[in-house]
Amino acid sequence: MFEFIPITITPEMVLRSQGADPAIIEKRSPILLEYAKRAIEEGSALLKPQVVVRTLMVQKIDHHKCIHLEGGSILENTFLAQQLNLAQKISFIICTIGDAIDEKASALYRLDPVLSFAFDGFGIAAIDIVAAHVCESIGEKANKESLRTSIPYSPGMVRWPLEEGQNKIFSILNPEPTIVRLTPSFQMIPKKSTSMLLGIGANFKHNQKTCDFCATRETCRFKPPQKNPFSFGSKV
Ligand code: SF4
Repeated sequence: MFEFIPITITPEMVLRSQGADPAIIEKRSPILLEYAKRAIEEGSALLKPQVVVRTLMVQKIDHHKCIHLEGGSILENTFLAQQLNLAQKISFIICTIGDAIDEKASALYRLDPVLSFAFDGFGIAAIDIVAAHVCESIGEKANKESLRTSIPYSPGMVRWPLEEGQNKIFSILNPEPTIVRLTPSFQMIPKKSTSMLLGIGANFKHNQKTCDFCATRETCRFKPPQKNPFSFGSKV
């Protein structure tokens, strides 16, 4: 399903992923646009997108507190049980672009911090595209079954603690550590990775956005100007 993921990144996307306004940068510091272009040119060959997905049937939802899944897994979280009370299935997802972009950004950090920052923005834009592509693909597949998908929910959102969410997603997906692994503080390695789940059911409405439930929504500099429900901004 995800053997080929098209990743097309513009300099504006890199700048936005750095928390900058491309229109302002173009007027005030056009050199940064050149750095963004260079990060795209050199970084594109370093992307190694990989996706781990597993979709489980929902068996029952207990008192809006626990979601019982096929195979005996239980998703115990009041917020998610309420949000996903219409779900017939839940897809658990981990995406990564590999660690080469982070390695490049680290190697450049002392030598050329601005280029390092551009590579970091490029990586953020890339993982955002991969995650959105996966969500859209699952959404299209659901549409063929006359179903819809929820917004993506990620560990660390409000009311889904990072530790709880990462433990649940990683226990269900059990990804190869060579693809992605968790640190003791529940961050993912490679850093440009994202983990999430999507509910699949008949009656989800698309009047919510991931940002509505993000712990950093008040101060976030990464919100795209026109966010679709599957767009992530920075999740890393
Ligand atoms: S764009 Fe910002 S507020 Fe929205 S989900 Fe990403 S980090 Fe959170």
